[in-house]
Amino acid sequence: MIFIIGTKFNVSGSERTTEQHRCPQCGALTQFVKKTGRNYITLFFVLPIIPIGKARNLLECPNCKTRIQVDNL
Ligand SMILES: [Zn+2]
Repeated sequence: MIFIIGTKFNVSGSERTTEQHRCPQCGALTQFVKKTGRNYITLFFVLPIIPIGKARNLLECPNCKTRIQVDNL
């Protein structure tokens, strides 16, 4: 039996920030969406099975979907 192993960056979360931030990409002043992202080892590139590395806090611009990494949230 052959298993195909890969890695995938999995992002979850939909909470909005309470303060407005200026997006460096599109310039919109908006409430960003807080997301937590983490790398997973996946089976057949689909099923996340083992989380690897640290979870990362990200803010996603709802306007242009740019993700900004923040480490002290
Ligand atoms: Zn933006």
